[in-house]
Amino acid sequence: MTERQQLLGILGLIYLTECIRWVRRGGVVFNSAPEARIWRKSPLLNNSQGDAYIGWALPTFGEFHVARGFPFSPHTDGLLTFTAASFHQDGRPSQPAFLKPWNDLSQVTAQGEKLVVSGQAVWVCDTPNEAGRLAAEIRAGAALEPNRRTEWSHRLLEAQFDVPAIRERLADSRRRLRRLRQVGAAAWSLMFLAMPVAVWRWGWTPPLWIGIPLLFACSLWISREVLRLHREWFPQAGDDRFRLVLLTALSPVTAVRAAELLDRPRFEEFHPAALALASLPREAAEPLCAALWRDLKHPRLPLPALPADQLLIESKWRDQVLKTFGHAASKEGFDTVRWDAPPARTESNHGRYCPRCHAQSTSQGTVCQDCGGIALLDIPA
Ligand SMILES: [Zn+2]
Repeated sequence: MTERQQLLGILGLIYLTECIRWVRRGGVVFNSAPEARIWRKSPLLNNSQGDAYIGWALPTFGEFHVARGFPFSPHTDGLLTFTAASFHQDGRPSQPAFLKPWNDLSQVTAQGEKLVVSGQAVWVCDTPNEAGRLAAEIRAGAALEPNRRTEWSHRLLEAQFDVPAIRERLADSRRRLRRLRQVGAAAWSLMFLAMPVAVWRWGWTPPLWIGIPLLFACSLWISREVLRLHREWFPQAGDDRFRLVLLTALSPVTAVRAAELLDRPRFEEFHPAALALASLPREAAEPLCAALWRDLKHPRLPLPALPADQLLIESKWRDQVLKTFGHAASKEGFDTVRWDAPPARTESNHGRYCPRCHAQSTSQGTVCQDCGGIALLDIPA
């Protein structure tokens, strides 16, 4: 291998590491390139904390969104730091489950990706931007008079399933990031196509004298755009802005994917089913929505060993989530009764099914092991 090939190989490897996306367990990934796909679990690499994905490496890179929704169960007494929803196929993210009174929650802060209350981390977000947004949201709830908190939690839930608002935000992102994507694609072409060809044809000096200043000019333009949009979209996340602006200015391999990095945290606050309804064709959205619907109705077992009153807080909140989800789905023309209906028998000897994952078994089966022991139901004749 020649020196030039080695250098191009090293540059390619550095770039590939820039394409890796780490998603904390429970985030549902909506990836648009090379084709629109939804992932609840990475097919590549995952552990109990999260999953690693690789964003599409070629221009124009596509979109990489992660939706998770509100991870807690609000109540007039406080915030239960647990919901039974399990978006990931292998179970919920590890999460300390307790009821934090509202007085303590007025002190909630974002420290990097973590949400911290009185020195204790209660949740880890995917991005610092989302941690900042969530902390501000919870502090706003804590500052309210107790009798207004029900209205606050209702508004919070409606916002998670606001499908028209998600569509508007998607369109806004696409419109405002178009130029950034184009400049990123141009910088990528310069780095991985034009410069290697020119080095091969004319040797090192002329291409580097022209190519490197051009590449850094693209990076500087991208970092200026990142600063402007980040300030507008995530005003509370100053530390993250500083890091991203500096990285995109100094590292062209990061700068080429700046649009994707800026866009990703804009959708984390929405429920994955709502993002599916807003962004996917009907036939692609329905299987995910149906699975998440059944997961809410029949949560994966076991549940944490919480006092009975706290488990009741969780199940009441989950009922409200289901109600809001049902309204959003029927507005989009979906019939949730179909999602609850027993599946058709796939083998003649199957007599029972799991109401959560719809796996089937013979009439001897009693519980679904994949869902932690949910009792099987009979398939109607
Ligand atoms: Zn099951």
